[in-house]
Amino acid sequence: MIATANPLASYRAHQTEIDDAIRRATASGWYILGPEVEAFEAEFAAYLGVKHCVGVANGTDAVRLAVQAAVPFRGAEGVTASMSATATVAAITEAGWQPLLLDILPDEYTLDPAALEAALTAPGMFVVPVHLYGHPARMEAILRLAAERQATVIEDCAQAHGAMALGRRVGSLGAAAAFSFYPTKNLGALGDGGAVVTDSDDIAARVRLLRMYGWRTRYVSEIHGSNSRLDELQAAILRVKLRHLDADNARRMYIAETYNAAFADLPGVRLPPTGGVYHQYTIRHPKRDALRDALAALGVGASVLYPVPIHLQPAYADSPPLSLPVTEQFAKDLLCLPMYPELTAAEVDAVCAAVRQAATALE
Ligand SMILES: *Cc1c(COP(=O)(O)O)cnc(C)c1O
Repeated sequence: MIATANPLASYRAHQTEIDDAIRRATASGWYILGPEVEAFEAEFAAYLGVKHCVGVANGTDAVRLAVQAAVPFRGAEGVTASMSATATVAAITEAGWQPLLLDILPDEYTLDPAALEAALTAPGMFVVPVHLYGHPARMEAILRLAAERQATVIEDCAQAHGAMALGRRVGSLGAAAAFSFYPTKNLGALGDGGAVVTDSDDIAARVRLLRMYGWRTRYVSEIHGSNSRLDELQAAILRVKLRHLDADNARRMYIAETYNAAFADLPGVRLPPTGGVYHQYTIRHPKRDALRDALAALGVGASVLYPVPIHLQPAYADSPPLSLPVTEQFAKDLLCLPMYPELTAAEVDAVCAAVRQAATALE
């Protein structure tokens, strides 16, 4: 079975370098927030073109800490898309802010700027654009609207390491941005990890306090904080993976182009938008479940990320129920095909052939 994602293949592709990094970190005697974390923070900030990177425990914490550090009004409303990882909204509510969930653009799968314009009604709100599947959200419109309405922009870059928007890396466009290094992400550790990045000295300093008990001086809490630290092993591994990120993303883009060409004339199949780093390659099909079953029978694993929009999940459902028609339709017909840099040419061909066969049979 060809999997949708394959973190083991990523480890094997860089095994010698990763094993060396693990040995170095293990033998150093320093395991939490040490020289490897500092080096990774500097290297990732330089890669993105931002001033600061602060390593934290995971991507959910990265969103939460970015909001806590960057949004001055506690309890303000945070606007984001209902089609995302639940983590985006979990982080907003955990930080004590109110989520306001909006619809997406039908062909780009990211926050609809028209919906955002209608939602940004009061000063002091914040927006969390999600670059879903590695495709950048409409940052030009989002940044303009946010500036007009005095809203803070915090990018959720958990699926978009290395993607470009407006001539810059995503993560360098808002007041702050959050990254996850969960093993299946474009830049993935061999465990949990995350980072907040920002150009603001102030926001970076606050995240550094928040990630360790509010300490500026050891054992003395200056503000209320918690524990959200990146460990040395993961940082050492991430330094290796970062060196391969551009090549890995280029391979994802090449696989996406191969899929696009193979599916262009296929009835019923709607192709994903171009221009991202393809964390997922997501098509739409009116008989999605039948297509997924047919692909499974042909040895191709396809996944549904995400089957239930956040506004319809029990924990986040409002009453009266919120209606987001584009998101709800998308959840019914989206399908993520195998997408990771280590897919072989033969596997890519097998996916193309299986999708063509299965979609043609469903006509
Ligand atoms: C993975 C992900 C997160 C959360 O990251 P974790 O490291 O799993 O906490 C947040 N937002 C999006 C869009 C994600 O894909």
